[in-house]
Amino acid sequence: MIVFSNLKIWNNEKRDFEVKDVEIDYDPALFKIADPEIDCRDYLGIPPGIDLHVHFREPGFEHKEDILSGAETALFGGVLTVLDMPNTNPITDSVKTLQQKREITKKQDIVDILIAAAITEKNAESIDSLDDYCDAYKVFMSESFGELMVNEDKITASLNKLEESGTIKPIIFHAEDPRILEERATEQSHYKKRPPEAEAIALQKILQWAKDYSSLKLHVTHVSSSLSLKLLELANIPNLTSDTCPRYLFLNQFSELDENYKKVNPPLRKEYDNQSLIEALSMGIVDMVSSDHSPHTISEKENEKPCGMPGVQELLPAVFTLIHSGELEWERAIEAFSTFPSKLLNIQNEPLEESFQIIDPYTPFTVDSKWIKSKAGWSPFQDRMLFGSLKYVIKNSQMLIKADY
Ligand SMILES: [Zn+2]
Repeated sequence: MIVFSNLKIWNNEKRDFEVKDVEIDYDPALFKIADPEIDCRDYLGIPPGIDLHVHFREPGFEHKEDILSGAETALFGGVLTVLDMPNTNPITDSVKTLQQKREITKKQDIVDILIAAAITEKNAESIDSLDDYCDAYKVFMSESFGELMVNEDKITASLNKLEESGTIKPIIFHAEDPRILEERATEQSHYKKRPPEAEAIALQKILQWAKDYSSLKLHVTHVSSSLSLKLLELANIPNLTSDTCPRYLFLNQFSELDENYKKVNPPLRKEYDNQSLIEALSMGIVDMVSSDHSPHTISEKENEKPCGMPGVQELLPAVFTLIHSGELEWERAIEAFSTFPSKLLNIQNEPLEESFQIIDPYTPFTVDSKWIKSKAGWSPFQDRMLFGSLKYVIKNSQMLIKADY
């Protein structure tokens, strides 16, 4: 047994921290602990993160990331639940491939890995048959990584099926309109090829679907531009939620990062968008955060230059950094990385005093190669200072991490 004494731990009912002594177990073979009482007066106890958008790349692209490396990366970012996206190889779009991925996730028991099924041209008409096997649905409205684009007729067909089935599982949209992307295909720069209008027009479609299918939970992931925020703010539809990612809050097309490494879909926008998204997150116009952890190796980023970047380990430190700078309140932050994703994904949370993380919110750390766990081996936040270094992760009253950075 060890005791975290004087710990300011979050209380969801009170929506505030309270000071407590919390007892937990640990395996002495795994952790050396000199004194069984750890004074935590400078630390905070908060819920573990839920990341509703990761690509752990297994099966098919294990050189970029795999279930074990992905889970470890999440753990060292204080994230204990993730939703894995279906653009693996094979694509997760059938009972068989969902079962196959479910087996793969069992290679580890650190992180709860939920699985999203792809809605595709092929399975749209019978999508309800996957409901017992998946935790969420993913719709790619345009081409990204993997050939998963599905046209609007098929999306509507799948929404009809899902409404009939009475599913409670969320339908998560990558919102970029394929017609705009086609129009802009000849543009030189990546961000001009995929302009904010593409996201806004796709979002308008999703808003209409959310109204038409009011019993379904629709979710727009990785909102990237201020143009979309105007639509979200005006719409205010109860069965539609949204998230944004640290990359859209902190980085833009002028950030100091080589062009190849900046390539992501939707693209990084402008500083103005960073600021509007931070405000929208703090006001709850954007409900949640996700990482869209989409790792590619350094060699791939240098050569083939695919779109995507890692992010699951940086997700919570990025949020803590906004709290540190006074741009976000704890109450909203905990909604954004825990309470709301948990509701969206139908997760029963364990009591906070049994599963939580302890962070040092005041001391910054540098994102460097020693810190980075992803197989990708790099971070879009490389060499930046972030706040909220992770000290301990506790799951079911058992210590999983004692970190010293
Ligand atoms: Zn993604």
